[in-house]
Amino acid sequence: MTDPVRVRFAPSPTGFLHVGGVRTALFNWLYARHYGGQFILRIEDTDASRSTEESIEEILASMKWLGLNWDEGPHRQTKRQALYREKVDQLLSEEKAYPCFCTPEELDKKREEAQAKGLKPKYDGTCRNRSGATPEGAASVVRFKAPQEGTVTVRDLLRGNVVFQNEELDDFIILRTDGTPTYNFVVVVDDGDMGITHVIRGDDHLSNSPKQALLYDGLDIPRPEFAHISMILGSDKTRLSKRHGATSALAYRDMGYLPDALVNYLARLGWSHGDQEIFTRKEMIEYFSLESVTTSAAVFNPEKLQWLNQQYIQNTPPVDLARHLAPILVKEGILPEGHGLSLEEIAKPIPSLNQRAETLVEMAQKSAFYFKTELEFDEKARSKFLTAEIKPHLEKIASGLSEINVLEHDSVETLFKQVAEEAGLKLGKVAQPVRVALTGSTTSPGIYDVVLLLGKDTTLKRLSEMIGFIKSRG
Ligand code: GLU
Repeated sequence: MTDPVRVRFAPSPTGFLHVGGVRTALFNWLYARHYGGQFILRIEDTDASRSTEESIEEILASMKWLGLNWDEGPHRQTKRQALYREKVDQLLSEEKAYPCFCTPEELDKKREEAQAKGLKPKYDGTCRNRSGATPEGAASVVRFKAPQEGTVTVRDLLRGNVVFQNEELDDFIILRTDGTPTYNFVVVVDDGDMGITHVIRGDDHLSNSPKQALLYDGLDIPRPEFAHISMILGSDKTRLSKRHGATSALAYRDMGYLPDALVNYLARLGWSHGDQEIFTRKEMIEYFSLESVTTSAAVFNPEKLQWLNQQYIQNTPPVDLARHLAPILVKEGILPEGHGLSLEEIAKPIPSLNQRAETLVEMAQKSAFYFKTELEFDEKARSKFLTAEIKPHLEKIASGLSEINVLEHDSVETLFKQVAEEAGLKLGKVAQPVRVALTGSTTSPGIYDVVLLLGKDTTLKRLSEMIGFIKSRG
């Protein structure tokens, strides 16, 4: 029987969670869910100078927003120092590591000499071969005794056997002068201690894998399986960065993307299942496998993400969409904080808006007429459409509506058509001014939908305000 799958996402909290990180988290999450395994979240915060609490909070908020729930953690490396120290001592006592007393000045000098000779600067092993009494003063660092010849082979589930020459490595540092362990060391100790079976991560870490493989062997921890996934590139084929637009997960939330759309989009960056583009989470979990992950670089395509977002906006049930729209309505200043509206109430205008909006921000802005008590007018539209000539038609629409007992699509339509016909005008010539009066703008859902959404009282109130406004302008 094989061990149950245990995978981890191990972000360093040195900035926001970017889409590349999200995709790494997602592939781990899908792998765990597919095999009924465990997904562990570990915050790699040992680099005190670059890690921040805000960044940890942002990572957690991003994962929650995306629905990438974890089964264990978040573990924090800063809370695990005793274990690292114990493992350093283990390697020291087994003579697989040694204290190094070389001073930074000595090391600088050796590095310069090597460079002058055109050699790759690497530690020359002075302290590895030291015999006799230990020098005065404290050791500056602890180094791992790495083999100096031969090769180390890292088995990668996506790339096959990746062979590294040991002579490229030197006796690398595992414990710094200030007593803090180094990145490669803590990753191995943690992955071992947490029983990680598969390390799925970006291929920017492939070059760390030989050192890590040697550390597993040195610590007598069985090596996990590795899968190094390719980087995400921008459209110009350079590594995805801010230059290519938004890259943080929460920036997409704030721009009105649905988490399901972003997850779906990122799942398809490097993984595929036939030609299928849209997947429910259940399908993604069912179909996900590392065999269908490619090693060729994936190119980030914002238009495709936007298209997917629109698909999700169209096909998500309004009440579910309302959960994501609500915070955006508040952020956009359309609803006040603590508005107390239920999701059902927020969902009401969605069916008349979801076929066209590309983002939830756009949907929020287009629904402002429905949620706001005070309309904001597009001034140009108001002076263009709300003229003295149009006033009698508005009055007719208002009196016609007040006579209809229960507003229905057909009865409202009949009234508009009648008024237009009597005035000898095209329907649009009457409908557009009413639209501006009721929504403040020239673009809105269909005019009959607007009337039905607002209801009789609000519609009549806005029409009468507009009639008053035209009068006041003379
Ligand atoms: N902390 C590393 C990073 O954020 C990941 C390390 C790993 O996955 O092994 O890039």
